[in-house]
Amino acid sequence: MRFVADVMVGKLARWLRIMGYDVLYFNSAEDNFLIYVAKEDDRILLTRDRRLYSDALRAKAKAFCISSSDTTRQFEEVKEAFSLKARPVARCALCNFELKKVSKDEVDGLVPEFVWHRCEVFWRCSGCGKIYWSGTHLKNMVKHMGFDPWERE
Ligand SMILES: [Zn+2]
Repeated sequence: MRFVADVMVGKLARWLRIMGYDVLYFNSAEDNFLIYVAKEDDRILLTRDRRLYSDALRAKAKAFCISSSDTTRQFEEVKEAFSLKARPVARCALCNFELKKVSKDEVDGLVPEFVWHRCEVFWRCSGCGKIYWSGTHLKNMVKHMGFDPWERE
């Protein structure tokens, strides 16, 4: 199950990626382009725009209309509608590439020293190279998600 998120739900897209779902997101995109991507790439279009939603359905694309404006609620809506579960591999919140577990030695000098001393497990994005660790700026996200995406195998 893969998604394409419209420009209004960028934060939700990042959360879904950390959960491990493949979510395309564009900072700006025409409605027709989003519908085209959903259809051609077999993705579910996530949107808050009722008109875009009905246009997508009319074009025979898969779409889901989100009603809440709050990210936590949006996440709940999508999680429930599609019975989403954390996938074995998280994806980069920024670029959607898969994260690979890396050893502590590999990130020596690449993360702040206090982080290196405090954390044991690190991930690196195979796309942009960004390094993730448990309890980072993603902490707030993790709290709202109701599970710790860093505790996967
Ligand atoms: Zn990345």
